Amino acid sequence: MAEIVLKHIVKKYGDGFPAVNDVSLDIADGEFMILVGPSGCGKSTLLRMVVGLEDITSGDLLINGNRVNDLAPRDRNLSMVFQNYALYPHLTVFENIAFPLRLAKGQHSEEEVRDKVTTAAEMLELTEHLERKPSNLSGGQRQRVAMGRAIVRDADAFLFDEPLSNLDAKLRGQMRTEIARMQRRLGVTTIYVTHDQIEAMTLGDRVAVLKKGVLQQCASPRELYDQPVNLFVAGFIGSPPMNFLPAKVGDGRLSLPFGDVSIGSDLAGKVAGKDVVIVGLRPEHIKDASLGDVSGGATFNATVDVTEWLGNEQYAYIPFEPDPAVQAMLEELDRDLDGEGMRTQMVVNLDARSRIREGDDA
Ligand code: ATP
Repeated sequence: MAEIVLKHIVKKYGDGFPAVNDVSLDIADGEFMILVGPSGCGKSTLLRMVVGLEDITSGDLLINGNRVNDLAPRDRNLSMVFQNYALYPHLTVFENIAFPLRLAKGQHSEEEVRDKVTTAAEMLELTEHLERKPSNLSGGQRQRVAMGRAIVRDADAFLFDEPLSNLDAKLRGQMRTEIARMQRRLGVTTIYVTHDQIEAMTLGDRVAVLKKGVLQQCASPRELYDQPVNLFVAGFIGSPPMNFLPAKVGDGRLSLPFGDVSIGSDLAGKVAGKDVVIVGLRPEHIKDASLGDVSGGATFNATVDVTEWLGNEQYAYIPFEPDPAVQAMLEELDRDLDGEGMRTQMVVNLDARSRIREGDDA
C-alpha cells in the first residue's frame, strides 16, 4: 500500500518548455486518482515520472514518505498497465500473468506462482483461457491479462495509462466496471490517466484536471461538476459541455442572447462594476416549458436548429447572435480555452418526452 506525494513536480523535455509545470498532489493510501485533460496536457508524462520511466526535472516525488526521484522503476514497487497491453505474444496467458513473478528470480516457489496466477485469473474471469496465446484473445481479454500481470505483483500502487482506449464502447463500459470492482476489492492506491469523461467521473475518488502541464483543480467528481474553479474546468467536465453565454450586466438583471433574467442581490454583488460577463449554464438545467416542470426559472423563446435523439434523452441546438458588445469577451474566452470557448449556439439536454423538433419555435 502506498501514499504518493508530488511536490512542485516539473518536467522539461529538450525544447525547455515545461510539459508538467509545478504540479503538487497528495494521493492517499488506497485512493483512486484520475489524471484528465486534453491531449498534450502532460498527464502521461506525469504518470511516467511516478513510475520512473521519465526523469523528474525538479520537485520531489515521495512514496510512503521516502523521496524516490532517483530510484530505478523496478525498485519503486509500482505496477503499470499500458494502453497497448505490452503482452508477450509467444507466452501463454498463464506465463504472461506469471511474468513479473518469474522476473523476481527465486523469490516465489512454483506453487506460489500457480496460486497467485490462478487467483488473479479467477478474479478477471480468465481461468479458461490460461493456456491460450494473446493472439487468440479478444481486446477485452488481453486487457484483463495486462491487469492480471499488475495484480500478481502485490505492488504498492497501480498506474494505468489510458488502458481502455483500444476497446469498443460496450467493452469499455464492462472493463470500466471491472477495474472499479478490482480496485475496491484490492484497495490499492491507483493513478489512472484518461481523456474519457465517463471514466474520469465514475472511477475516481478524486479527479485532477490538467491544462498545458498545469494542475487546474483536484477534487471529487461531484465538486468538479458543481463547483469548477475556472472556465476551463467548467467547460471540460460535462457532456454535452456547459454553455457559455455572454451577458450584458444591467440593473438587477442580466441580458442573455435569449432575453433578460433578473438576478438576486448575491449575484448582483458579484457582477457589480462589470459591463459584460459569461454565464455558465449546464444543458440539463434548461427545460422544455411545455412539459410543465419549470418552476422559479426564467422562460425564453428560441428557434431550435438541430435535435439529436438518444433514446433516454435528446439534445437540441439553439444558435444565437452574440451582441457586438460581447464579441471581444468571447474572443478572449476562445483564446483562453484553446478554441473551445467560442460557441455561438446553446445546447439543451431535453427530456426524452419533449416533442420539440428541428425548426420549432420553442
Ligand atoms: P495524450 O492524451 O495525447 O497522450 P498527454 O496529456 O498524455 O497527451 P504527454 O504525452 O504527457 O501529454 O505530453 C505533454 C507534452 O510533452 C506534449 O506537448 C508533448 O508533445 C511533450 N512530450 C511528450 N513526450 C515528449 C518527449 N519524449 N520529448 C519531447 N516532448 C515530449
